[in-house]
Amino acid sequence: MQLILLGTGCPKIDYRRFGPSNLITSKKSIILVDCGSGVTQRLEEAKISSANIDALVLTHLHSDHVVDFYQLIISSWHSYRVKPWKIYGPKGTKKFLNKIMNAWKEERELRIKYEVRASVNAFKLEIIEFGKHGKIKIKDIDLEFFKVDHFPVKHAYGFNFFNKKKKLTISGDTKPCENLIKYAQKADVLLHEVYVEGEIKSLNKMRSAKTLHNVKAYHTSSKQVGKVASLTKCKKLVLTHFVPTKFNEKKLKNIVKRDFANNIIIGKDLLKINI
Ligand SMILES: [Zn+2]
Ligand SMILES: [Zn+2]
Repeated sequence: MQLILLGTGCPKIDYRRFGPSNLITSKKSIILVDCGSGVTQRLEEAKISSANIDALVLTHLHSDHVVDFYQLIISSWHSYRVKPWKIYGPKGTKKFLNKIMNAWKEERELRIKYEVRASVNAFKLEIIEFGKHGKIKIKDIDLEFFKVDHFPVKHAYGFNFFNKKKKLTISGDTKPCENLIKYAQKADVLLHEVYVEGEIKSLNKMRSAKTLHNVKAYHTSSKQVGKVASLTKCKKLVLTHFVPTKFNEKKLKNIVKRDFANNIIIGKDLLKINI
């Protein structure tokens, strides 16, 4: 398998770190996890056509993870996609994505009529919502989904990807959580989100101490993520979803190193990791 980090940022704008998205490829499968801001541009940079993606998998419905959904769909049509989209996501995904499709319905119908392209299958969505825990086969990849703790978001998921006896775990957005530690055991690669402590210093009219406390409280902090990784006994820890997007990388690595002795990688957009 190969993991490509398409976007390693958060809602904050940073041209080096686009919104959260990851791509998993194997011999037969291409799976996109989340579709944050700039996902289609990053796919293009990674030379992956959205016409060929087998499944879109959503960790949760926070806007930074789904904001480019319609752009993904419409550009896949323009990339000659001829198969419907298979989409897996948490409870509420069907209603939410259908609302987005409806918002653009008139514009889309006009376009379809005017552009007379051979297929409109790219606009067909097959949406499957996750239960608590389970497994899905996507060609040669087995995807396992499990709940993580991103309260007050009710339905947030982490994923395992299995291919050729290798295991990749993706944390999704979560605070330190027992379920993640349980399912991420002995992963070859653990891709984990992180809130970088001490990097957002100033408070202002828009950002109170309570704001900072609450943002940190539903993520995993730089002081916690090494402990989590160590409890999973994973071989390699890759950090992503940096809040904030600008921080001292060396300092972060040194903090995580205190608790996790194996390989630590500070993620970057378009970084490829072979698993
Ligand atoms: Zn979130
Ligand atoms: Zn997020």
